[in-house]
Amino acid sequence: MTAKSNPVTKGSKSRILLFNTMGRKLEKFVPIEKGVVRMYSCGPTVYSYPHMGNMFAYIFVDLLRRTLEYNKYRVISVRNITDVGHLTSQADAGEDKMEREAQKEHKTAYEIAKFYEDAFFRYCDALNCLRPAVSPRATEHINEMVSLVGELERKGYTYRIDDGIYYDSSKFRDYGALTGMNFEQLNHYLIFGERVETVPGKKHVTDFALWKFSPKDAKRQMEWDSPWGVGFPGWHIECSAMSMKYLGETFDIHTGGVDHIPIHHTNEIAQSEGATGKKFVNYWMHNEFVLVDGKKMAKSAGNFFTLDDLLKKGYAWRDIRYLLISVHYRSQPNITDRSLEGARGAVKRLSDFITRLGNAESMKPDDKEAKRAIKEAKDSFIRSINTDLNMPEALKAVFMMVNTVNKLIDRKGLSKRGAKAVLKALLSFDSVLGLRLDEFADMAKGRLDPVVEKLIKLRKEARKNGNYALADEIRKRLKDEYGIEVEDTGNGEVIKRA
Ligand code: AMP
Ligand code: ZN
Repeated sequence: MTAKSNPVTKGSKSRILLFNTMGRKLEKFVPIEKGVVRMYSCGPTVYSYPHMGNMFAYIFVDLLRRTLEYNKYRVISVRNITDVGHLTSQADAGEDKMEREAQKEHKTAYEIAKFYEDAFFRYCDALNCLRPAVSPRATEHINEMVSLVGELERKGYTYRIDDGIYYDSSKFRDYGALTGMNFEQLNHYLIFGERVETVPGKKHVTDFALWKFSPKDAKRQMEWDSPWGVGFPGWHIECSAMSMKYLGETFDIHTGGVDHIPIHHTNEIAQSEGATGKKFVNYWMHNEFVLVDGKKMAKSAGNFFTLDDLLKKGYAWRDIRYLLISVHYRSQPNITDRSLEGARGAVKRLSDFITRLGNAESMKPDDKEAKRAIKEAKDSFIRSINTDLNMPEALKAVFMMVNTVNKLIDRKGLSKRGAKAVLKALLSFDSVLGLRLDEFADMAKGRLDPVVEKLIKLRKEARKNGNYALADEIRKRLKDEYGIEVEDTGNGEVIKRA
């Protein structure tokens, strides 16, 4: 399943408040161009499968975009692919993650990048995250990076050491503003708090590589010529170059995980503003970490699990997405069997409700109460999403409507028109939730995806011919790929949403 566009976009434009990491307060969102939002999200480093912490970061971006679209903004979103330059250390020491993985897997660095980039898109599609307008690869923007470094050199921000061309962070006024610390405090924090490794010759801990030279004793797979010598770009310059190329020198929103605040994003600001002399980004937004046993889920720590791991355990993509959207992006989600079971229960309540709406009938049509429930839910839903994406409150509003209408059906039924209006409201909420509730509605009406119908037919034939192995294989495929459960009963098969 791919999700390239957001078909149901309802709602009205009203005030949106976003928590801006720069200044650490809620601010009214005002885009640079009326009706249009330009946003950039730091993309994945494609040297292994994304874990659920990474997916939380992209679900947050998806919710942000869907919220803005619900408010009728046109969103131009860019999310890069980091396929070179991200080293094993947060600073400039250590190995390139791509090159290291290529050696381990006996493949080329480009093969590794392509393989995990595909896996990343597959995971995002599986969780129904909308695809960004542009997904630029770092390796395809080396020229832009080289010219940006050249501009910084002309403006006197750089110095050369054996290891590469470095940015002198003491030359940038307000260096570290995103962290709320001043230059000295941030240097102290990086040495003693983050314990970043440093590189011989660097003038300050906060200085960072713009262009790193290839090692003299070994040939890198990913390296390019430059005015300073053969090498490869620093990780931070990649995002400055790609974001400004596609969104302009100043754009609206930049996102990433909170780990990017003290180094990666602080350095993006220093580079971009150093080069252009203009404000780089108006709203900085950061998601919190998914934790495992109180520690950040991280590839390097080895304490991670992936979407495939959870699907193999029998959770459907909707259960997983529901769990990730039900936690505020600035709090730390707990991905446990218990929380996933809770999410599965909530999704089932929505699906049962939609089936019930399909069967609703009333002798004395009276839609007044249903209309009131819809209006209250809509008001509360939009207020919640527009207050820094308060999804827990937004979901409360959805379930408030579900409960009220359920009670109404218990008491006196609901007219077909009333049921249609409730379903319409639910589907409009779903343009933000992204749970594809329209599929439940289709099921309730007996409509199935044509491929699913074909598979069910094939399975029936296989059973008739005694080919139970094939029938079981098709049943598994229906469950894993389409979330459809087939049960064989005395009265024939029963088709359900898994
Ligand atoms: P990476 O592929 O490591 O460059 O990370 C991609 C995105 O995932 C970045 O925005 C990170 O900040 C974010 N991220 C990494 N680990 C976690 C985590 N445990 N929880 C939430 N976000 C994370
Ligand atoms: Zn970035």
